[in-house]
Order: sequence, then structure tokens, then C-alpha cells
Amino acid sequence: MAEKLLIVGAGVAGVNAATKLIDNGFPGENITIVDMGKDPYNRPYSEVMTGFLGAGGWSDGKLTYHTAIGGHMAKYCGEEKAMELFDEVINNFKRFHPQPEEVQCSNPEAEPDFIKPYFGLRLFPVWHVGTDYLHEIGKNWYDFLVENGVNFHWETKVEEIKFDQNRVMADNGSNPYFLYYDRLMFAVGKSGIDFGKQLADDYKLPTEPKPVQVGVRFEAPQKHFQKLIDISYDFKLYRKFDEGVSLRSFCTNNNAAYVAVEETYGNHSYNGHAKKDEAFRNDMTNFGILMEIPGIDKPFDWSRDLVKKVNKDGTGLYYSPTRKPSTTSEGIDVSAVTVDEMDEIRDAFQGYYKYIDDFIDDMKKVFPTLGDDWGVYVPEVKYLSPEPLVDYDTLALADYNNVHFVGDALSARGITVSGAQGTYVADYILTQNKEYPDFHEHF
Ligand SMILES: Cc1cc2nc3c(=O)[nH]c(=O)nc-3n(C[C@H](O)[C@H](O)[C@H](O)COP(=O)(O)OP(=O)(O)OC[C@H]3O[C@@H](n4cnc5c(N)ncnc54)[C@H](O)[C@@H]3O)c2cc1C
Repeated sequence: MAEKLLIVGAGVAGVNAATKLIDNGFPGENITIVDMGKDPYNRPYSEVMTGFLGAGGWSDGKLTYHTAIGGHMAKYCGEEKAMELFDEVINNFKRFHPQPEEVQCSNPEAEPDFIKPYFGLRLFPVWHVGTDYLHEIGKNWYDFLVENGVNFHWETKVEEIKFDQNRVMADNGSNPYFLYYDRLMFAVGKSGIDFGKQLADDYKLPTEPKPVQVGVRFEAPQKHFQKLIDISYDFKLYRKFDEGVSLRSFCTNNNAAYVAVEETYGNHSYNGHAKKDEAFRNDMTNFGILMEIPGIDKPFDWSRDLVKKVNKDGTGLYYSPTRKPSTTSEGIDVSAVTVDEMDEIRDAFQGYYKYIDDFIDDMKKVFPTLGDDWGVYVPEVKYLSPEPLVDYDTLALADYNNVHFVGDALSARGITVSGAQGTYVADYILTQNKEYPDFHEHF
């Protein structure tokens, strides 16, 4: 009998892993996926982080195609294999897309002169799916997995994992129960970041150090940035300071672009997404301005502390010299407390906010119509949870070689890399199981 695989998290990593296994004859009946969110038919717009395809399912669907973007893949398997895995993930999104020809690729080839000398522009291809199509992709993809025998447990949270007993405790709200596995894939994404940290603490898992990545979500009318958007849809402006601090614009959304609230550890932070449907067009642009700050002692605690300081009345802050916060694509105000002064934000950033001020000031020079026509939602944060040390060939924990960490729970920060990590582990699982007679012969 092939192994019993339990995947915690029906997000991008878990779903791509299951698909790779099914495509290669692994018996779907031996795969169980537990998720605290809902299936794609019942998942409401308000649940941004949980449910089928996880945060990736309700995101903007920008599928980046470069090993320097979206977290680590090449460090495990090399550049060439990483790109192959990215292709597999992107092909999956096209395969379950109702209109695959709608997935467009933006591939800027040269840095435009007008951004120099203030900024550099990272050049890489990105495939853009769009939030609304992701919902349809999710349904088609889910149907495929169910038809192939995969078992799903929805609205069920895994509360505890006993690595030495190959057992998890799951809770569907009415009764906790145990599930046993031969192999476990821990694919909980950002919404499970606290669970990952708890496991790392409980099992004293060795981790790899990470820098702080924190900043704001910047929003402005698209017209100010159109010249650059025409060259690169998801433009990544960047700059590095002598002190080692670097800044980059991150995850740019255009045309029908909305700021999205993320909830991690009970606090609000911001991200963004864009719809493809013209009906949602608001002609806005939003992107993160993220700082990477090396050399901070206990970077995770430092970021947590900052995020708490810029949360007020249960949500984040909004500052603009002239504008008001926007609405979501459902017409609801983006949750934020508007502040008139920047003092408390600057205090929380402990001197580092000057780099963001500087970035915005220079954007005003490069995009002359921008002026004061912008606002910032504070904070945007990539927690970069302490990354458990894994075997690079299998992404399994050193002491538990049947427990694999993948996606944002490991070292990814985006859809393509998360999916690729799931696919990479699935490749390994296939090598361990191919000789079993219950492999589907028709493949
Ligand atoms: C608003 C927004 C926009 C984004 N836009 C983009 C983009 O355009 N391009 C891009 O590359 N990236 C984007 N991202 C990031 C991207 O979505 C993630 O990097 C990616 O989804 C991570 O994949 P994952 O499988 O690791 O986790 P996820 O896709 O987040 O899935 C994790 C799943 O685990 C489940 N889970 C968590 N804890 C438990 C538990 N204890 N028990 C059971 N289930 C659990 C959750 O319900 C969730 O469904 C965006 C993120 C957000 C929030």
C-alpha cells in the first residue's frame, strides 16, 4: 500500500503537491487534506487567508517567474530545477482556468531611464491571473482532486501534532479527533504562522536566521504610475542604503486594485489584490514599500512588537496628506484607523521610517504628478517566521524525515515558490512510493 499522506493546509503548496501526486498515479484515497477554511464553493470574499488555495486563492494571482522573487526555491534544488517546478505550478493555474488565454505575461526587458538615478527596477516575468478568475480556477481544481479520491476536511483546524506518534489532533468545532499519517506535509501558510512557531518551540527545531521585512502598503491613483506600469505590471523598484537597509516596492496591483487586510497573530496588516473583471475597475494602484533591515536582534519579536504598536482599536493605521481610505471590491471601507500625524508610526519604526519617507519623496520626483495624492496603510509585514532547518533534498525536518515543511510555513513568500515547494516534496514522495501495487496503472 502507498503511504497515507496528510496535508495540513489546502493552500497553494498543499494543492499543488496533491495534484502532482495524482497526476503521477499516487492513489488519491491515500491523501487527506485538512483546512480550517472553506471549500471554493462556500468560501466568502471576506476570508482572504483560509480555504481552498489558501491566501493564493483570494490573492491577485501574480505568478512570478524568477528564482530571486517570492522566497527560496533554488537554494534547495538549483536554478534549473526551480524554474521547471515554477513551470509546473503556472501550468496548473492555466490548466484549471476557464479561459487560459486570459493569463498574460509581463516581461520587462530594460530599466527605463526616467527612474534613474533614484531607483533600480528588478526585471523578471510575471503571469497575471486576477482574483476573480482564481475563484473559478479554485472550483475546477477542487473538483479534479475530489474526483480523483482526495479526502478533504473543511473548517477543521489542526491543533496539535505529535511527530513521534504520527498523529494530529483536528477540531471541526464540534469535536476534536485524531488523524494518523505515514507522512505529513505542513503547509499552513501565513495564517498558520503561529502554529509553526509553536511547533518550532515545542520540538526545539533548529531554525535559519531571517532579517526583518516591514513597511507600508502605498496606494494612489494609477495615472501617476502609468508610464512605469506600461513597462512592467508588477514593477519592483528597489534601492539599497549604505547601512545595509534595502527597500523595494512589492506586489503591485493595478486597474481594479484593492487593499486587503491580513490577520496574523490577531493583528491587522495590509496587502493588496487586483481583479480582472472591468466591472471592478477603480483605476488605483497599490503596492507594498518593504524594508529589509539586517542585524536586528530577535527580528521576529521586533516585527511583532512594531505591528502591535501600529494597531489601534483592533486594526491598522491609515495616513494620507490629502486622501481618505479606499473601499474593498465589495464596497466596504478598508479596515483602518485614520491618523492625521505620522508621529506614532515613526516612533513604532524606531528611526527606520525615514527610509520610507525618502522612498516616497523620490517617487514624487520620478512620477511628477504624484505630489500629495497618495496614502499609506500601516503596517505591511512579511514575518519571515523562523525558518525550520530542513533537508534540502526533501524539505523534511532533520529529526522527523516524514514531516515536510512547505510554502510560506517554510521559506516561500509567494504563489509560484509555495506551489513549487509542494511539487518538489511530491516528487520525493513519488520516488518513495512508486513500487506499491495501488498506484494507478493508467498513468
Ligand atoms: C491579499 C493577498 C494577496 C497576495 N497576492 C499575491 C500575489 O499576487 N502573488 C504571489 O505570488 N503571492 C501573493 N500573496 C502571497 C501568497 O498568497 C502566499 O505566498 C501563498 O498563498 C502561500 O502558499 P501556502 O500554501 O504556503 O499557504 P496558503 O496558500 O496561505 O495556505 C495555507 C492554508 O493553511 C490553512 N491552515 C492554516 N493553519 C491551519 C491549521 N492549523 N489547521 C488547518 N488548516 C490550516 C489555511 O486555512 C490556508 O488555507 C498574497 C497574499 C495575500 C494575503
